[in-house]
Amino acid sequence: MDMTRISHDVAVYGGYIDDDNELMQSASGGIATALAEQMIDAGGYVAGVAYSEDFYKAEYIIINDKNDLEKLKGSKYVETEKKDIYKKVQSLLMQGEKVLFIGLPCTVAAMYKFWGERVENLLTCELICHGPTLAKVHEEYISYLEQVYNSKIIEFSVRHKKKEWLPLYLYAKFANGQEFEKPFNSTEYGFAFFVLGKESCYNCRFKGDKRCADIMIGDFWGVTEEDEFWNKKGVSAIFAETDKGNEVLNVLQGVKLFPTSFEKAVTNNPMVLKSKVRNLQREKFKKLFEEKGLMYAVKDYTYPE
Ligand SMILES: Cc1cc2nc3c(=O)[nH]c(=O)nc-3n(C[C@H](O)[C@H](O)[C@H](O)COP(=O)(O)OP(=O)(O)OC[C@H]3O[C@@H](n4cnc5c(N)ncnc54)[C@H](O)[C@@H]3O)c2cc1C
Ligand code: SF4
Repeated sequence: MDMTRISHDVAVYGGYIDDDNELMQSASGGIATALAEQMIDAGGYVAGVAYSEDFYKAEYIIINDKNDLEKLKGSKYVETEKKDIYKKVQSLLMQGEKVLFIGLPCTVAAMYKFWGERVENLLTCELICHGPTLAKVHEEYISYLEQVYNSKIIEFSVRHKKKEWLPLYLYAKFANGQEFEKPFNSTEYGFAFFVLGKESCYNCRFKGDKRCADIMIGDFWGVTEEDEFWNKKGVSAIFAETDKGNEVLNVLQGVKLFPTSFEKAVTNNPMVLKSKVRNLQREKFKKLFEEKGLMYAVKDYTYPE
């Protein structure tokens, strides 16, 4: 028997946020946004990842105002600065505040390790995780676009929905009014995302039954028009990993959730179960990237299968 397929999940769903605008701004089905809204409505805080003001990095922030929700929307496919997020969350929990902590599985595990135990007022949500690319890849790409367009970036997304969920677009808007958009997989950023991951992600310790959040969410890859939870603007795969997570999902407002099976949710999403495989070109690419930069390094390689 394939042991990685044993699931501790209480329930599994396919679904999406009801509001079409919110759905279009979200990476997948907008479930992270719905959870965040619910936490803020209940008077709590949300710890999640936003781009810095100049878009040169991704970092943790804590919000308790719905006006800040848009900063969290969308996946940031780059290493994030954790800063003192664990301490800040700890301090809120100690004051009796409720916190929703959203992060990659290793970050959620680190949050629990820092705090030492599960507590009632901490709700955690982890993302299905392929692993991000390096911070320097992101920095170089932002700098490259700003040079080409001779203007500062004022909006940026690696999961832009042009008309629909797929294909994934990279999108940037500049202060001078110009815009850039290209299918993510054909950008140098996309190349680096698939080839140049963090070392720890090739042997991730937080897959399969080692996931430890209350809820896990990701893209429902493989869903089609035949499925009752199909939505061309984005569909999330949602795993209630604990009873607490399932209770939260059962009263989540403004979403449509449809029960489905663990098998269906993971069949086209191997990253729930196992680490990505190291690309054979990684080390050569990394060396060239360090010596000559992203644009030069990508030009030297054909896109991997
Ligand atoms: C590096 C990375 C790799 C991923 N790999 C896969 C994959 O292989 N398969 C899959 O199905 N899904 C993957 N995802 C998850 C997917 O891209 C969506 O983020 C997820 O489905 C949530 O979508 P949503 O519409 O509910 O979120 P939205 O409503 O758009 O909100 C986005 C949420 O993601 C959080 N977030 C964004 N970037 C990061 C980050 N770098 N670290 C921690 N939290 C972040 C924000 O805090 C926010 O709460 C990955 C995400 C990331 C960041
Ligand atoms: S693949 Fe694993 S180690 Fe890498 S960022 Fe995701 S959870 Fe962390």
